[in-house]
Amino acid sequence: MENIEDDVEGFQQKKHSIADSKLSEVETLQLIHELEVHQIELELQKEELILAKEEAEMATQKYTELYDFAPSGYFTLTNSGKITQLNLTGSQLLQKDRSKLINSQFGFFISDDTKPIFHEFLSNVFHTNRKECCEVKLFLENNFTINVYLTAVLSENRDEALITAVDITQLKLTECALRESEKRYRELLNNLDVGIILHDKDTSIIFSNSKASQLIGLDKNQMNEKQIFNPEWEFIKEDNKPLAQENYPVNEILNTKKPVKNFIIGIKKSENDSIKWLLINGFPVFNNSGEIAEIVISFIEITVLKKLEIELIKSKDQAEAANRAKSSFLTNMSHEIRTPLNGIIGFTDLLMKTNLDKNQTEYMNTVHESATILIEIINNILDFSKIESGKLELNIEEVNIFELIHHVIDIFKYHADLNNIDLIVNIDKKVPNYVLTDSIRLKQILVNLIGNALKFTKDGYVKLNISNTVNPENENQCHLNFSVKDTGIGIKDENQEKIFQSFIQEDSSITRKFGGTGLGLAITNQLLALMNSELELNSHYGEGSEFFFTVELEKSNHEYDSKDLDDNVEVVEGIPFDKNLLNKKILVVEDNKINMLLVKTLLKSILPGSTVLEASDGKKAIKLYKKEKLDLILMDIQMPHKNGYETTAEIKQLKQYNNIPIIALTAGIMLGEKEKCLESGMDDYVSKPIIRSNLEKVLFKWLKK
Ligand code: ADP
Repeated sequence: MENIEDDVEGFQQKKHSIADSKLSEVETLQLIHELEVHQIELELQKEELILAKEEAEMATQKYTELYDFAPSGYFTLTNSGKITQLNLTGSQLLQKDRSKLINSQFGFFISDDTKPIFHEFLSNVFHTNRKECCEVKLFLENNFTINVYLTAVLSENRDEALITAVDITQLKLTECALRESEKRYRELLNNLDVGIILHDKDTSIIFSNSKASQLIGLDKNQMNEKQIFNPEWEFIKEDNKPLAQENYPVNEILNTKKPVKNFIIGIKKSENDSIKWLLINGFPVFNNSGEIAEIVISFIEITVLKKLEIELIKSKDQAEAANRAKSSFLTNMSHEIRTPLNGIIGFTDLLMKTNLDKNQTEYMNTVHESATILIEIINNILDFSKIESGKLELNIEEVNIFELIHHVIDIFKYHADLNNIDLIVNIDKKVPNYVLTDSIRLKQILVNLIGNALKFTKDGYVKLNISNTVNPENENQCHLNFSVKDTGIGIKDENQEKIFQSFIQEDSSITRKFGGTGLGLAITNQLLALMNSELELNSHYGEGSEFFFTVELEKSNHEYDSKDLDDNVEVVEGIPFDKNLLNKKILVVEDNKINMLLVKTLLKSILPGSTVLEASDGKKAIKLYKKEKLDLILMDIQMPHKNGYETTAEIKQLKQYNNIPIIALTAGIMLGEKEKCLESGMDDYVSKPIIRSNLEKVLFKWLKK
């Protein structure tokens, strides 16, 4: 700038000296013009220079500001550690004015424990050409300490160290807290009573806690980096078969990217054969791009539980076997009891039709009634044991509801009349004629309920009500509501639940007064359960009870055929003598002597003049068939050596077989017995106890053909 001013001054002097000298006028004017142009150029240069000076000043100020307010402290130190220069951040870091810090020792602020680090750092700076760094603690006023991170390089002329200092106190605290928390979690994981294993995505183990080592039987170092598939152990499934590698929980998680819950695995270590059972849970940990980064597996040992479970299953199997044995014992026993009872019922029935005096008739009635009650009880026990063992199944067939109700009412008409109780039936118009259900079981339910109602009603009425709630969504279906209402003794509120349990009656006075086994309602309810329904009760003590239920049944598209008509033909007792029924040869196959005698007696009475042949087992029956020309066979089902089904099948295979009717004498207690008889080739059946009218009906039907 001064140069320019000098130039301008020189230029003015030149101008005057030119004016004073003796030049031609033209020369003088030209010279003056050149000088003026030069003057303008110089003034322009002066302005540019002023601008440049201002910019330089601004840049210096900016640099100073940058230097002072930089986020790190800058210090220039001599090799003895004396501060020759520092920025504002540096003075703030040391909490002292800059002026007081210049020429003071930086080492003065370093805490005693980190002083050696600092000295080594400073000496390294001056003796090596590298950038050096270290971490030290600064001890400030009021016992205040901070952690700083120092980096340093030598200045260009190698006589000073240029140092940057960053406050890392907060960072240190965070790091410390992190380390603390990691330590806490590590301790927690190691003290957990759950095995924890962290797998890398290649299934190798990155981390495992102490419990995991204990459960797997390998120490931490042995565990580390082990792959999940390892010859040292074998994983097995609950059925003791080896678990396929792809089904290992870790692999499952890798394949499905989903957690695994409550997976049961057995570990079999090759050196000893005892199995350790583990309950495993696991989940994947994803990275930011949604890929599996790690897999966490946790597990507890359940060997004791597993053993207990095995024991329990064993006990359950044993209990079930015992229960099956009990059921089969009950079935056999009731069969054994039923056979002589059938004899008693059959013969009393026969005896009652002979000429008895008044007393004898009364005694015989009592015998007959007692035997009938006994057989009902046995049937109930049998049903109960069958339901208990899950052997009872419904036999769904087309049923004429009206006919079924008619039969049920027939059973009780006499009893109701005798006791002056109105037996009312009310069937809604909407109830369809034919439905698909198990007629025997539906009948059994209604007989139970009406039987109870009559038993517990002294006067008034017993009303059977049937209505249909039409299902608007399915015209083929109907909801039949059955209700049996009485005006009897009623049931106390507190007893209304317990009477549905087996062998339970309302109270002991009931047993004394009315008898019964307490099985009826339990069986009824279990039968209804098979029909997806249940029994409900409305009762007021002293006023009466109403038992009701709803069954969802399919309507049947019934077509009338000749069979219907046939069924409706009632065979009246004492039918007029028919030539077709003369001199028939009938074979009775029956192992029980009483039953044999009963059938023979009945046959002689129904078909006088006929020949009755006897066979006490299937073998003898086949022999007789080959020898004699028979008209009909009556065949018992349960016989030793060869049962009725087998015998029938064999007879039908014979060359001599001439299509004669074979009629089964069934116990009528086994499910599907009727179907089995027809399937094995029998033509019809008569259920025991054999009642004269039933046998008569069947004999006439088949012999007339
Ligand atoms: P049982 O009739 O063989 O004793 P149930 O299971 O059929 O067995 O009935 C159990 C009990 O429920 C009966 O003993 C009786 O106390 C009570 N009960 C059943 N039906 C009626 C009814 N209609 N009125 C009054 N009490 C009844």
